[in-house]
Amino acid sequence: MVDDLEAPPLTAISGWGMAHHARTRHLRPRSIDELKEALRTARTQGWPIALRGAGCSYGDAALQSEGLVLDCSRLNRILAFDEQTGILEAEPGVTIEQIWRHSLPLGYWPPVVPGTMFPTLGGCAAMNIHGKNNFAAGTIGQHIPSFELLLANGETVVASPDKNSDVFFAAIGGFGMLGVFTRIWLRLKKVPSGDLMVEAIQCPNLAAMVATLEAERTKSDYLVGWVDAIGGGRGLIHRANYRADPSPEATFRLSHQDLPKRFFGVVPKSWLWLGLWCLLHRPGMRIVNALKYWAGARAAKQPAHPQALVAFSFLLDYVPGWKRAYRPGGLVQYQSFVPKAAAESVFTELLRLSKEAGISPFLGVMKRHRPDPFLLTHAVDGYSLALDFPVRPGTRSRLAALARAMDEVVLSAGGKFYFAKDGLLGPTAPPRFLAEESLRKFGELKARLDPEGRFSTMLSQRLFPAGFAGAASSPVPHLV
Ligand SMILES: Cc1cc2nc3c(=O)[nH]c(=O)nc-3n(C[C@H](O)[C@H](O)[C@H](O)COP(=O)(O)OP(=O)(O)OC[C@H]3O[C@@H](n4cnc5c(N)ncnc54)[C@H](O)[C@@H]3O)c2cc1C
Repeated sequence: MVDDLEAPPLTAISGWGMAHHARTRHLRPRSIDELKEALRTARTQGWPIALRGAGCSYGDAALQSEGLVLDCSRLNRILAFDEQTGILEAEPGVTIEQIWRHSLPLGYWPPVVPGTMFPTLGGCAAMNIHGKNNFAAGTIGQHIPSFELLLANGETVVASPDKNSDVFFAAIGGFGMLGVFTRIWLRLKKVPSGDLMVEAIQCPNLAAMVATLEAERTKSDYLVGWVDAIGGGRGLIHRANYRADPSPEATFRLSHQDLPKRFFGVVPKSWLWLGLWCLLHRPGMRIVNALKYWAGARAAKQPAHPQALVAFSFLLDYVPGWKRAYRPGGLVQYQSFVPKAAAESVFTELLRLSKEAGISPFLGVMKRHRPDPFLLTHAVDGYSLALDFPVRPGTRSRLAALARAMDEVVLSAGGKFYFAKDGLLGPTAPPRFLAEESLRKFGELKARLDPEGRFSTMLSQRLFPAGFAGAASSPVPHLV
């Protein structure tokens, strides 16, 4: 049974970036029956429900301050894996880490992974995540043959591209607004090696980054660009292709994949965030970025080197708890997705605006994307730039003003935003980057599948205070 179902204690809970907080009822059911019971209780009590996986969305997408946060992370059983087809059947709380640990020794890798291995499959489907192979493999939803969705009234809908297809294309990427994924099937990718061959390419500016990503995408399995946003947009692109591996059994082994526990074999990795904390100011990050850029210049002269899939895919997990370096205010990530023709000029302008505001993004990451068929998709035929900004008491209102100025640049160029990262937009933005028709269809499904509007988060309340059918009538202030 779920503990204290009728009166769960109030718990302090945050978005991953530690800049959005709520004090809320937090339930963590251990079975689908307990989940159903929690839904029934929420209905009886009139509580709105925010679904939550691992809580890795940066902002307020998995938060709720008035009702209940229903955490699916304990529903974490892998139910089946077919070695012939590569199809995995799992509960929603299974993490990306659980999946690769199960499948890689058998020669399979998740088709799409985020930059960290800790998110759950349910959370990834709800946000329709992309990886460093988005330009080739699309989003995770394109590898989900079907799922089961538990509605607020306790009924279950099975959906696939052929069956209840309207639900399929809306619930994937539907940020937990229509129902709870209780079972997901995912088609994994058979890989020739547990290693990638990785090369660094040095790019002196944003124009070179865009041109290189464009030129490399037909020859690469994975591409990711690191941008020195303090240094004006120079950066490094890492290109990775699967290794032609004569004995893949060795590289498939978990012992080959596990990230080292110590840095340089000496420093415990759990201390590293402290070092980062000491450097987390503009002069410190200017030096770190310059060193990284010039170290990359040397690496760019070297031939491709083998790197384990886990090390390449989850670089950010190398430093456990690195986000603690951003305490006490936390961080927000500003990720915009811009059609290819406008990308260079828009990203140049975003960096110029942040420089003018005197607020430096400490990390910048650029990726190439392609469109997908999901109703609320964030993907474009173009590029994304993700900028990590520290949130500090003295800069909160300036950061909000900067975000508003940057929103205008992105939206005017036909760009989009991504709910998994957002914590800053106001309600007038979604109708400018999501088609009216898509919002109308989503609104109709919401009315059909969740007529009481039970599924609701701080993000949905912030961005869609008037529902999903049309533009918000009046803007509300940005949160930071
Ligand atoms: C360091 C880092 C790197 C990242 N890199 C990437 C990246 O490269 N690409 C990318 O696309 N994303 C990336 N992300 C974002 C992350 O992949 C998404 O936010 C993902 O949704 C997190 O999954 P989660 O399990 O933590 O879900 P949560 O953050 O807890 O929830 C996400 C959404 O899913 C809903 N939800 C959760 N469980 C269910 C369920 N069972 N049924 C229905 N809805 C549910 C929630 O209501 C919420 O709207 C990154 C995040 C971090 C912290």
